Amino acid sequence: MASGYSEPVERLLAELARLPGIGPRSAERLAYHILRQPPEEAIRLAIAIRDVKKLIRPCRVCGHLDEQDPCRICSDESRDRTVVLVVETPKDLAAVERAGAWRGLYHVLGGRIAPLDGVEAEDLRIGDLLDRLREPGSEVREVVIGTNPDVEGDGTALYLARALAGEGVRVTRIAKGMPTGSSIEYVSGAVLADAISGRKPME
Ligand SMILES: [Zn+2]
Repeated sequence: MASGYSEPVERLLAELARLPGIGPRSAERLAYHILRQPPEEAIRLAIAIRDVKKLIRPCRVCGHLDEQDPCRICSDESRDRTVVLVVETPKDLAAVERAGAWRGLYHVLGGRIAPLDGVEAEDLRIGDLLDRLREPGSEVREVVIGTNPDVEGDGTALYLARALAGEGVRVTRIAKGMPTGSSIEYVSGAVLADAISGRKPME
């Protein structure tokens, strides 16, 4: 399409518009901002993007994104290895860590079951979680399901609870104190800490 922009600007706009939540208007605003930035500032952004892609990979144990594999949390001997908090995304894990609300280990599912978006149970790291529990020497006694308290998060929690039945671990769900439909990523640290400490056994 003829937009009046030169090719390099067009290319930047196209890349920015691929980001989630960024429509053509926002892409234009960001592109203008970058064009006005001193070169070293804009290049810092480019280098930061390149570095995360080069240095960060998913932890083979929990699925968190980190520079080391197993990640810093899985390698931290001071953490309680008998409890695993299952979260949907690394963003949720980061929110719980920021809140200082958990001293156990984590398991990152990589999303939640959402058939309408084409996400099925097989697309998530549920098999990896079962493998982890069955591993000889596993110290895990309790799995806390910390998927978000909305329709899909609750559905995923139910699916997980069934998958974990008979694995010899206690299965609990973070408390309903969190407003239904809210998300771990955005609630306050205090609410999050209450939801985790007030967890209840699942059927
Ligand atoms: Zn890990």
